[in-house]
Amino acid sequence: MSGTEVNRHMFPWGHERRFNSYTNYFRKTFGERVQKVSINAGFTCPNRDGTKATGGCTYCVNDAFNPSYCRPDKSVTTQISEGIDFHRKRYRRASYYLAYFQAYSNTYASAEILRELYEEALRYPGVIGLIIGTRPDCIDEQKLDYLKDLVQKYYVAVEYGIETCNDKTLLRINRAHTFADAVNAVRLTSEYGINTGAHFIFGLPGETEKEMLEEALQISELPLTTVKFHQLQIIKGTAIEREYLTNPADFKLFTWEEYLSFIIRFLEHFTPKIMIERFTGEVPPKFLAFAPWDSKRNDQISGLIEKRLKELDTWQGRLFHL
Ligand code: SF4
Repeated sequence: MSGTEVNRHMFPWGHERRFNSYTNYFRKTFGERVQKVSINAGFTCPNRDGTKATGGCTYCVNDAFNPSYCRPDKSVTTQISEGIDFHRKRYRRASYYLAYFQAYSNTYASAEILRELYEEALRYPGVIGLIIGTRPDCIDEQKLDYLKDLVQKYYVAVEYGIETCNDKTLLRINRAHTFADAVNAVRLTSEYGINTGAHFIFGLPGETEKEMLEEALQISELPLTTVKFHQLQIIKGTAIEREYLTNPADFKLFTWEEYLSFIIRFLEHFTPKIMIERFTGEVPPKFLAFAPWDSKRNDQISGLIEKRLKELDTWQGRLFHL
């Protein structure tokens, strides 16, 4: 197919954007914008409390990822209400919301506690579903069985931090789980008919650009609904900052131009089936130890990536072959 033949009808995801955009999916499904509202429900994480490990992943500082209105001393209802106000002031008003259980591992509690917290969120007017961020080793059939019931009425997604397909890197960043653990969790969740999301980081120590590109195929083989990609952002005071300062040659910290060209090649080899939610992370600059490029908002990043895809007349999955 020549590039000039490509038009909106040829993209399998049913719109003219050159990647399978998660935002467009919601607009198409619900007829308008759906806003995620983050919640910190006071969970911890087995990689911090000693169950799997202590100290956590070497890059982790949850405060850097959480909006200011999310504090576990506030109820879920209060956080949703303040979150809706927060977004209303900044963006166009949305009529529907997804309660995003974001901080730490949001399935790391008994089924009773989870039920109480999730259902409090679902009772809030306008909340049409849940996004539950967690680790691949914090899910089991009992929890999935319960979530499967919620799927009858709500949009439900479990979003796993996977970060890399490389076990050597997972060990090095102290994730305390393997890639096989992640594959099993994603497969099981999908078998239960629940949307599955995953999070990956590009630029982790010891990984070459070639290895990162090869992940396009490995990730494509997973039954995922959505993915989030991030460039590695080194946060002040973390173990990974100390590692970087000791051994910077072991890191591929992308400049913006390098990242743009990497992500285009990655997208070309990535399945058209999986929706993409974001291409970069947006940690507030005050937390960052190094900033290899000027801060850009997520919508700007998507715009720049789309512009480059258009210039090169390419798109997500153009070179994808299983
Ligand atoms: S699993 Fe998540 S919350 Fe736990 S230490 Fe790692 S990044 Fe932090």
